[in-house]
Order: sequence, then structure tokens, then C-alpha cells
Amino acid sequence: MTRPLDADEPVEETVAVWRALGLPGVVDVHVHFLPPNVQAKVWAQFDQAGPKIGRDWPIRYRRSHTERVEQLRSFGVRRFSALPYAHRPGIATYLNDWAHDFAAGIPECLWSATFYPEPEAATYVPGLIEDGVEIFKLHTQVGEFLLDDPLLDAPFGALEDAGTPIVIHVGSGPIGNPFTGPDHLARLLRRHPRLAVVVAHLGAPEYADFLTLAETHEHVRLDTTMVFTEFFDGDDPFPDDLLPRLVDAGDKVLFGSDFPTIPYPYLEALESLTRLRERHPGLDDDWLRRVLWHNGAELLGLG
Ligand SMILES: [Zn+2]
Repeated sequence: MTRPLDADEPVEETVAVWRALGLPGVVDVHVHFLPPNVQAKVWAQFDQAGPKIGRDWPIRYRRSHTERVEQLRSFGVRRFSALPYAHRPGIATYLNDWAHDFAAGIPECLWSATFYPEPEAATYVPGLIEDGVEIFKLHTQVGEFLLDDPLLDAPFGALEDAGTPIVIHVGSGPIGNPFTGPDHLARLLRRHPRLAVVVAHLGAPEYADFLTLAETHEHVRLDTTMVFTEFFDGDDPFPDDLLPRLVDAGDKVLFGSDFPTIPYPYLEALESLTRLRERHPGLDDDWLRRVLWHNGAELLGLG
């Protein structure tokens, strides 16, 4: 406990990234904080390279919740989510109650919530929205449900009307299953075209199709989580021929990190984006400022 938080952490280099861009910090739309018992089970999946992980994935940030919040602050993260996600019926409310209490004590933390295809979601989701929840998360790969499950229709309708953002992991990375892929989101958007969806991981590996959904739906956005890091690049690299479309989507791309469940320093999440300047002239400092700060600040109401 006496070890300084930055003992083996490149904090100064991390801060230098956003300072060089003239930003007041970064907004990170894709951060996880979970109840300790749930988190232990999730981390065990990563430690064993479980069937939905598929590779070695040594989690770097394993300190206590309090220490991890301090770490995010030291990196200059001014706003972050605490995305819970339900993998079966009956636990969303437990996760949501915990996430509410967690965010209540941390000014930078978004009040985050999840739901699952279950009859109760038609009640608890509108209730959360009315109470002021700020962001939702769904994970179809882990939860193994269809986005157009009839039990999700009322919750999505409430989200669509309220404009509440929802991060959805529905791309087929790292391992696809019958519940992942762009067609699932396309079907959902046909029914709820105004949903403020944030597609996790830029929809990896189906980047082109998810980009199309963002291009054709005013409120669909994409988060950068892990995509351009060296760790990710070997498996599902983002193709060069899509970079011009990433430039054009500059107002719809949000920085995300997946902290704490990442196998590299937070600095790498930021530098993986600044390196893009070398891949395309349009992915310049202005693009980076929008992705690291302005787009998130606007979506999440930070002005
Ligand atoms: Zn995540």
C-alpha cells in the first residue's frame, strides 16, 4: 500500500500526450469498474485466456478501486465510465445498484448501467433514465443475446427517446459467436434508428460495416478501445483503406481504453492514436483533439 502509484507507470509521458495537444485532459468512454466478486470472475476469464478471450491477456491494472481511480486521475482522465455488463438474467439490478453507489462518490465517474433481455428491463431501464443514469453498456458476445430480442424493445425505445448513450460490444472480436456482427446492430437500428449507440472497439474486426452504420445513422458513434494498439494490431488490424472514412467520421469517434483490463500501459492507448498521424494526414492533431476530448465532452454533457 505504500508503493507510490506511479512506481512503474509512465505518468509524465501519459500527461504529455494531451498537453501537447493543448487539451485539459482526456474523456474515456470505455472504462470498467465492477463489484469485487464479479470482477474477480471476469479477471479469472482473462487470466485463463478463457473461451471468449482466446489469448494471453495479462491485466496490468489490478489495484484497489480507490487506487485505480487515482491512477486515472494521474493520467488526466477528467471523465470516465464504469461500464458494468450482465451475462445472464437477474443480475443487472445488482450491478446497477453497485455502479450507482460507486459513481456517487467519484465526480469524474459517469453513472453507468446495463440491462439484459428479461421482462423487468421494461421497468428498470426507464426508471434509471428518469433517475439520471448517464450511460449504458451491453455486451452481446459475453451475454449471448440478440439485440432485437423482443424483451429489449421497450428498454431500447426508452433509450432512443431519452437519447441516453449506450456502449455496445457487438463486433466479433476477440472471438465471434452467433450474437456478434454488424447485422445484429443493423436490425436493431432499423427498429430504433435514433439510438445513441457507441460501437465498442470500432466494431472490430468488422470495421467497414460498423463504419457504414455510423455514417448512415446520425447518433451512432464508435469508440477506439484497443484497436490501434500493438497488442490488438496483430489479430485484427484496422485496414489502411478505411482510414479516409475514419477521418470523415472524426466527429463520431470517441476515445476508449478498456482500463483496467488491458495488458499494456494506459500510455499505449493514447500513443496508439497519436501514431495514426503517420498513417494518414487527415488523422491530425485536430482529429485527435476531437477524439480524445471534444466528442466525449459533447456526448456526455461536459461542454
Ligand atoms: Zn470493455
